[in-house]
Amino acid sequence: MLASSSSGNCSVIQSGQTTVLVDAGISARRTFIGLTSAGLGEQIDAIFISHEHSDHCKDLGVVAKRFQCPIYGNEATLGKLEPFLKGTETLINIEKRKVIQLKDLEVTSFSVSHDAVDPCGYTFFDGQHRAGVATDLGIISEEVQDHLSQCDAVSFEANHDVDMLEKGRYPQYLKDRITGPLGHLSNHDSGQGLALMAMKGQLKHAILAHLSDQNNRPDLALKTVQHCLRTYNIDFNVLLSHKSNPSPLIEL
Ligand SMILES: [Zn+2]
Ligand SMILES: [Zn+2]
Repeated sequence: MLASSSSGNCSVIQSGQTTVLVDAGISARRTFIGLTSAGLGEQIDAIFISHEHSDHCKDLGVVAKRFQCPIYGNEATLGKLEPFLKGTETLINIEKRKVIQLKDLEVTSFSVSHDAVDPCGYTFFDGQHRAGVATDLGIISEEVQDHLSQCDAVSFEANHDVDMLEKGRYPQYLKDRITGPLGHLSNHDSGQGLALMAMKGQLKHAILAHLSDQNNRPDLALKTVQHCLRTYNIDFNVLLSHKSNPSPLIEL
């Protein structure tokens, strides 16, 4: 992940021939520097949008222009992107659960439960390995489990520590929104979900994503998720995303 937090999200997936972003919530400059410093080249083939919240689309028009690439998303989400666009972008509508081919990558989107018009996660398959991204979700539905348990690696939300949120200074309505079914996953939910999907399928690596600036700490997220995985005796590689700099790469 080039960056992930409640203030800006951008994941990058690269196969032999293809490099794509999921979301464009950081500046084009940071996106470019993140890509090149990680040795991922200077080209992007497509941007896939998960949902229309600004921490995922903030710099979308500038990023699409800089990389001269199309923007993919479902119809309802594309219809909400206008505030982030320049008007010259190529928008490509994709249906959820329908596989599309982009050079050597098969891309599939699936529904997630979150308070946006039609939020989704994505999986990417190069014929050998599958990677998934789901950064904003209030619950881990059957559909999420079905798609992500088939992945080798995922970017997966660990948004908040339940105690920190509870004792923090957010107003109650916001706390209720975050913990509700259309909100965000706690560290504990995230750990339980990863353990379940690892047991169900072949998931082996995760980057913890979308950590709250206010209601989480990286060490706490990592410790809580690792504790859940150890409880089930699962051998699993957990990494952290960062607000201001790229996470380590997972190579499959
Ligand atoms: Zn969101
Ligand atoms: Zn978000």
